[in-house]
Amino acid sequence: MKKHYLLTPGPTPIPPEISLKEALPILHHRTSEFAAIFSDVAEGLKYVFQTRNDVLILASSGTGAMESSVVNLLNPGDEALVASCGNFGERWVKILEAYGIKPQVIAAEWGDVVNPAVIEAALKANPKIKAVYTTFTETSTGVANDIAAIGAIVARTPAVLVVDAISGLVSQEFLTDAWHVDVAVCGSQKGFMLAPGLAFVSASEKAWKLVEQARLPRFYWDWRKMKKSLATKETPFTPPVTLIVALQEAIKMIKADGIENIWKQSSLLARAARAGMKAIGLELFGQRPCEVVTSAKVPEGMEGGKIVKMLREEFGVSIAGGQGALKGKIIRFAHMGYIGKADILVGFACLEMVLTKLGYKLEKGKAVAAAEDELLKG
Ligand SMILES: *Cc1c(COP(=O)(O)O)cnc(C)c1O
Repeated sequence: MKKHYLLTPGPTPIPPEISLKEALPILHHRTSEFAAIFSDVAEGLKYVFQTRNDVLILASSGTGAMESSVVNLLNPGDEALVASCGNFGERWVKILEAYGIKPQVIAAEWGDVVNPAVIEAALKANPKIKAVYTTFTETSTGVANDIAAIGAIVARTPAVLVVDAISGLVSQEFLTDAWHVDVAVCGSQKGFMLAPGLAFVSASEKAWKLVEQARLPRFYWDWRKMKKSLATKETPFTPPVTLIVALQEAIKMIKADGIENIWKQSSLLARAARAGMKAIGLELFGQRPCEVVTSAKVPEGMEGGKIVKMLREEFGVSIAGGQGALKGKIIRFAHMGYIGKADILVGFACLEMVLTKLGYKLEKGKAVAAAEDELLKG
């Protein structure tokens, strides 16, 4: 028997209140009972997104919602800009290219953030750019882009701003309307504390104008169909009923805590995670660290994958390693959604043991103590 501790940046642990909802018998989706739940979650999502616009609910992982943000906004031959600083930024490029759009790419080094002034200059140089695609919390490296600054820049141009907020929204402050984000994309398996399988998209009036004119191929992802059926408290196709019932519970819990308090909690956990890493000599990775995941460099001569594997196999603790060029070079500790203070302490205690077993010199208890000091300040 092994107890599992999920400290990965998606999927994240699910509170028992939500798991129980996921176990209920299936409702039929064309019933007044389901319609009431559906309209309740559609309203609740506006609070979580901090938007007055409709939030569409998609049956897909987050990437499906990203793809929908390409096919619903653009025409063949359109100009688009991708501002990327990691694996998920690069995903925008791949999706656009799959639809024949050759985007202009502003790529920051992995670990850095996108410079808003570079986006401003690119938009000035090419007024034909119709959409700017970027990432809020770049989960692959652990940094957060300054979406408020980018939003202020894009809002002054004819372009729309599309933000992958899949790992950050809910857990880290994200103000869709106040930051002029035209399209925000999220998924169910990170801050929302749900099983994977749902994605969410909010779209501004400026974005809807493009949706009406878009000519890239779309059928399942067509936002117009989703918006039309939202008005009758339905989805165009069979929705993941179970997940939507569970989403109602998740939104209830988020509202009960108050989203501002959730943001504060992640920020506290992030400070504790950074302090813990530093206390045992692990160098933090990345500029402008986000508050949903903490990345640290793997000690010289060590293989990051080994640390991740040993933590999981010996202690049931799952953390993430590096992706792409960072494979084996960093470890990533998540602190979003249902991950709490005690989980951080468990994670560090086990990490200390694994590093010791692998021959790294550290004073046991130091990471835990440093994290405790931060948590006590909160
Ligand atoms: C997790 C994640 C995704 C991918 O979402 P899927 O649900 O796996 O499709 C995209 N972007 C970011 C920033 C993420 O953290």
